[in-house]
Amino acid sequence: MSSNELFCKICREEDTVFNLINVCFCRGTAANVHFKCLKQWILSSGRIHCLVCKSRYTGIHLIARPKGLLSYINQNKMTIVSHCFYLGIQYYMSYICLEQSLVRTDEIGYNVGSDLLRLMGLFFGIDSSIYSYLIITRGIKDYLQWKNTNFNIDVIKR
Ligand SMILES: [Zn+2]
Ligand SMILES: [Zn+2]
Repeated sequence: MSSNELFCKICREEDTVFNLINVCFCRGTAANVHFKCLKQWILSSGRIHCLVCKSRYTGIHLIARPKGLLSYINQNKMTIVSHCFYLGIQYYMSYICLEQSLVRTDEIGYNVGSDLLRLMGLFFGIDSSIYSYLIITRGIKDYLQWKNTNFNIDVIKR
């Protein structure tokens, strides 16, 4: 690396003035960076100040975009799967109990067993409906809160 050549102070590669930018108060040979190197450095370090001259980087913009619903679902997939599994069992139990109470009534007429099954079916049905309502409203609330604190940060040239 000859001393008159320009280079990127992050990746240390020589380059022409057209590919390099100066984003702080550092001057001289160690003043320039590639935009892509700077972007990578800001995103990995979380720093927006030059470590050498302490000035805030200029000529760049940080954009925060809220992460999407898919990313929320992905982060919480185990919770969602376990809720669905539990609900699935509850609804299925409700269905089986109600169906069996009808079958039994057909076969042997009115009896205590079919009444009990009907009650259990109703219990599972109501319980799973309330449970669904609660986790859906809580899920929406959680998601809205999560959206306010989870961003994808991007760096662009100003
Ligand atoms: Zn570079
Ligand atoms: Zn600097």
